[in-house]
Amino acid sequence: MKFWFITGSQSLYGEETLRQVEEDSKVIVAGLKLPFPVEYKMTAKTPAEIESIIKEANYDDECAGIITFCHTFSPSKMWINGFARLQKPWLHLHTQFKDYIPNEEIDMDYMNLHQSAHGDREHGFIGARMRTPRRVVAGHWMDERVQAKIADWQRAAVGVAFSRSLKIVRFGDNMREVAVTEGDKVETQIKLGWQVNTWAVGDLVEEMNKVTEAEIDALMQEYAQVYDFDEKDTEEIRYQAREEIAMEKILVREGAMAFSNTFQDLHGMRQLPGLATQHLMSKGYGYGGEGDWKTAGMTAIIKAMYPDGATSFMEDYTYDYQQELILGSHMLEVCPTVAATKPRIEVHHLGIGGKEPPARLVFEGLAGKAIAVSLIDMGGRMRLIAQDVECVKPFQSMPNLPVARVMWKPAPDFLTGMECWILAGGAHHTTLSYDINTDVLRDFARIMGIEFVSINAATDIYALEKELMLGDVIWR
Ligand code: MN
Repeated sequence: MKFWFITGSQSLYGEETLRQVEEDSKVIVAGLKLPFPVEYKMTAKTPAEIESIIKEANYDDECAGIITFCHTFSPSKMWINGFARLQKPWLHLHTQFKDYIPNEEIDMDYMNLHQSAHGDREHGFIGARMRTPRRVVAGHWMDERVQAKIADWQRAAVGVAFSRSLKIVRFGDNMREVAVTEGDKVETQIKLGWQVNTWAVGDLVEEMNKVTEAEIDALMQEYAQVYDFDEKDTEEIRYQAREEIAMEKILVREGAMAFSNTFQDLHGMRQLPGLATQHLMSKGYGYGGEGDWKTAGMTAIIKAMYPDGATSFMEDYTYDYQQELILGSHMLEVCPTVAATKPRIEVHHLGIGGKEPPARLVFEGLAGKAIAVSLIDMGGRMRLIAQDVECVKPFQSMPNLPVARVMWKPAPDFLTGMECWILAGGAHHTTLSYDINTDVLRDFARIMGIEFVSINAATDIYALEKELMLGDVIWR
């Protein structure tokens, strides 16, 4: 994916000034050190040029968004027809070529050449007037803080492009009676672009029966390279390999990057997929347990934003009120990208689902700052909730809990953090990511036109309560 840089100007200034504007713009673009490339496209001077470049951006599948900047003054009525057609994320970079005012050099000609304080305000007005969702970043283009903000927005825009083409395979339906994992799939497709469809577990079993011993041998070699395990467990592990190969074949066939399943719908399968799901997540697939396709989708999107990052499907389980920590895990399915130790494949009885003991990866999670993300359906609208958490090294060995586990403390503090999450309606399932930050998620929600709720160090619970009530008015 790449981003297009469009400089705004007009014909008033003459050839020489416009040439300088173009040269300076190219220097700015070359100086941006960002996760995704930026390409200087043009210095736009007329309504026709603007409309044309925005139509091109809309059609170009590789263009993830546009960045605009007005080196000189660019009258904004010229931009209306273009912005009215804009379908890509937009960042308004409010910068200036030089970061100082040269005392001797400055005269009216210099002012006319370096007037983004003037031109970008006109540009900002039309964004506000048209209610066009955009990220505004102010500051000198060489400033690391400015570049970090643009980088965040780029991650969000890449997530948006991924989201708009995301397909999710549901193996079976949701866990019976569970509310938060339900959702309006039509509304979600309209807002986020996700194509969420169901495949029968029987179709998966049929695919599993076709998997060859040679295919399983190859995947077992891959497991041996990244995980530890005992030879005695080989048969159970090979069964997980069979499940993984069959699931991935269906995902590849359907062009899907996320999936869900449920322990209540495993007809014809001997084990709940554990290792199989965990290893698929490590390859970039999103997953949600108990039919939770919303968490599967968000996990896939965050993994696409940070392909080498640490992001997993997660579930809030048990509290330690003395240590003020939440223990997070799942029956089996935690992604090994969040592992602090080399994961070990183990086979243990699972008291739920009534199937054979499944092979799963066991490990301790990373310590460090992370964010827990939950997408919920409020009825007619989606709410994206993000909570800052501080993950710590688990302080107990928990020898009788052979699953992957992570411990963390939520912001603003342990008790208030839990109260805020419950008030906002956040699910027990989350996407836990060590890479993403609040701004990226806020950008993502803004571009998608969905409600965003952040619970962070500065959150005041009564202000949050009011924000949620206001949200009911704004987003109804
Ligand atoms: Mn669950």
